[in-house]
Amino acid sequence: MTQPLVDPFQRAITYLRVSVTDRCDFRCVYCMAENMTFLPKKELLTLEELDRMCSTFVRLGVRKLRITGGEPLVRRDIMTFFRSMSRHLDSGALEELTLTTNGSQLERFAADLYAAGVRRVNVSLDTLDEEKFARVTRWGRLPQVLRGLDAAQAAGLKVKLNAVALKGFNEDEVETLTRFCATRGMDLTWIEVMPMGDLGNEDRVGQYWSMKDLRARLSESYTLTDLPESTGGPARYVRLEETGQKIGFITPLSHNFCESCNRVRMTCTGELYMCLGQEDMMDLRPALRNHPGNDAPLEQAIRQAIGLKPEGHDFDYSRQRADGQVSRHMSHTGG
Ligand code: SAM
Ligand code: SF4
Repeated sequence: MTQPLVDPFQRAITYLRVSVTDRCDFRCVYCMAENMTFLPKKELLTLEELDRMCSTFVRLGVRKLRITGGEPLVRRDIMTFFRSMSRHLDSGALEELTLTTNGSQLERFAADLYAAGVRRVNVSLDTLDEEKFARVTRWGRLPQVLRGLDAAQAAGLKVKLNAVALKGFNEDEVETLTRFCATRGMDLTWIEVMPMGDLGNEDRVGQYWSMKDLRARLSESYTLTDLPESTGGPARYVRLEETGQKIGFITPLSHNFCESCNRVRMTCTGELYMCLGQEDMMDLRPALRNHPGNDAPLEQAIRQAIGLKPEGHDFDYSRQRADGQVSRHMSHTGG
């Protein structure tokens, strides 16, 4: 039997996040510069290579696959990949196939995603104000995303919203977003903004806003009950007693969640990052490309990479400098 993936700190690696493209139809101010240079197409893993990579991880015990980007739904023919991955759901090897999206293409693809076995999607949405939405995403338009949300729910997909908490930008929308989600039966998770990449823009919309402050803000209007559940990731959850809603807080910076980390991330070029906050990575592409038809070298490279997974990350805002900042963009490692 194949040995499952276990890192040096005895954490079983069962969750893989895969970026399938670094491109995007938005230019969110905290994620990309407006004039981003993208990778040449030939650098990207082909859809067949992505399939082989993911299938190898599944064989090694990965039970949950999250597809991300850039914007995963702008990759040409990405539905072929989703449809192909669904065989692992059918066999029971994979528990969940899911994606994180900006929602712009959901109107087109929601039904196909459901047909491919996807049951849940995370949609990133920081504001319900059209003008603010255009400002923070630069190229995005809110009505298109709202139609995407409708289409996703109509197709039977469970939707969770992810909102990046930005001081001076969406502080005043905590209640509005909470109510919006409550009305539509969607969970909501807030994310602390992380110092990623050189965004080349001075006009940062909003700044770091701690989950502690956001929580305090929420508790002015609602009764919060901490939920014990953890998904092995950086999110912690509360229930709002008044609405029964689950609200998540992702605090990669101000909390240490590393001890329960069960995940690794692969870029669209086949680099495996063992930790979001560290530069250590292993390029899996040579093992893949140099050995067509033989997955043994790839399996070995993956095991070697997992053997390098660090105990924890290194972000530190308290030093008031960019210490701990990692130079790559979120769209590269896939959030
Ligand atoms: N394009 C898709 C989307 O926006 O959902 C998937 C990729 S995006 C990089 C994944 C997530 O990362 C989004 O929820 C986005 O808000 C978040 N993100 C991007 N840059 C971030 C940053 N600097 N700090 C915190 N979250 C960030
Ligand atoms: Fe695109 Fe997502 Fe980054 Fe926004 S956060 S620019 S939607 S990849």
